[in-house]
Amino acid sequence: MIRDYNLRKRVMVTGGAGFLGSHLIDRLLERGDEVLCVDNFFTGAKDNIQHQLANPHFEVIRHDINNPLFVEVDEIYNLACPASPIHYQHDPVQTTKTSVHGSINMLGLAKRVGAKIFQASTSEVYGDPDVHPQTEDYWGNVNPIGPRSCYDEGKRCAETLFFDYHRQHRLRIKVARIFNTYGPRMHPADGRVVSNFIMQALRNEPITLYGDGLQTRSFCYVDDLVSGFIALMDSADEVTGPINLGNPGEFTIRELAEKVVTLTDSKSELVFKPLPQDDPKQRRPDIGRAQSQLGWQPSVPLEEGLKRTIDYFRTFA
Ligand code: NAD
Ligand code: UDP
Ligand code: UDP
Repeated sequence: MIRDYNLRKRVMVTGGAGFLGSHLIDRLLERGDEVLCVDNFFTGAKDNIQHQLANPHFEVIRHDINNPLFVEVDEIYNLACPASPIHYQHDPVQTTKTSVHGSINMLGLAKRVGAKIFQASTSEVYGDPDVHPQTEDYWGNVNPIGPRSCYDEGKRCAETLFFDYHRQHRLRIKVARIFNTYGPRMHPADGRVVSNFIMQALRNEPITLYGDGLQTRSFCYVDDLVSGFIALMDSADEVTGPINLGNPGEFTIRELAEKVVTLTDSKSELVFKPLPQDDPKQRRPDIGRAQSQLGWQPSVPLEEGLKRTIDYFRTFA
């Protein structure tokens, strides 16, 4: 007798209790996959996956990917890693370990079971870029010894490992370079710019601009990004990436602050704080590769995505 669960794809999501991971899990379950969430709950929260706990096709393991893990799965999305600067700088050695040792373990697992494996890489591999917008063939401008290096260099080394497992062991890999993404379930005290500004605006507190606020970022709404993840995982085996996933709309941080103030009808004023060391001056993805190889591009404009995110944050303000 063929049992129902044998027909479902078994997908593992590391970092599944985090912001991006929890949205990805919702989408995978919705389309009928069997999902295993692996998380050590460092920055993730049970609240993010609570609504799926009664789903018979969903399982959670509390596990740190720096330790080996033996499970049988068909696909792995490797998202485990703190993403916000205050979190990844809290224990920088653990951050590098998660990207390097953690990736080795997940690659070893993928090798043993023949699973396809996706890596959540980052636009941080471009560092403070002097090529603009950033294309995948740009090698980046990264400080190897600064406060952001544990994250940037950890993710760069993870990419090296993914491509070496691909070349040496023929692993099917999918490397996404994710640009700044925002949306519901970002942690309100996460320290990233969108969550900071929305919480400050909703509380009518000063909006903290680091530096002159003229540095730029490109913000992608989470639903668009998750569609890109799945399109990449489902693409032909020849499509390994690295592939930029992000929204090419580019805004100064000051413009973002002004938009948030307007959309929340806030009384907050803008205040200026010191710029953190090695803060990139500009960031915008060239998404030509994602468009041609995946047929993917984002569709949610910044204002629309901000409105949805603001609605979510109102319960915390
Ligand atoms: P997040 O902090 O909300 O999620 C990360 C998750 O990983 C959390 O649930 C955390 O508990 C878990 N985790 C951390 N270390 C772990 C470990 N050693 N073992 C098991 N679980 C661990 O961050 P996010 O925004 O959802 O980011 C997810 C991934 O996407 C990260 O790898 C991040 O580097 C990458 N990324 C995110 C963005 C963004 O803008 N959100 C941009 C570029 C890259
Ligand atoms: N690994 C794991 N789960 C598995 C298979 C391997 O966690 O199902 C870990 C294993 O502990 C090892 C790492 O992945 O440390 C790399 O495995 P690989 O087979 O590539 O290397 P080796 O075991 O030869 O060092
Ligand atoms: N930023 C800011 N005020 C804040 C938080 C961040 O001006 O309260 C700036 C930060 O210096 C950076 C940009 O916003 O230039 C994006 O910061 P974030 O930490 O969200 O992401 P990353 O620097 O990793 O792109």
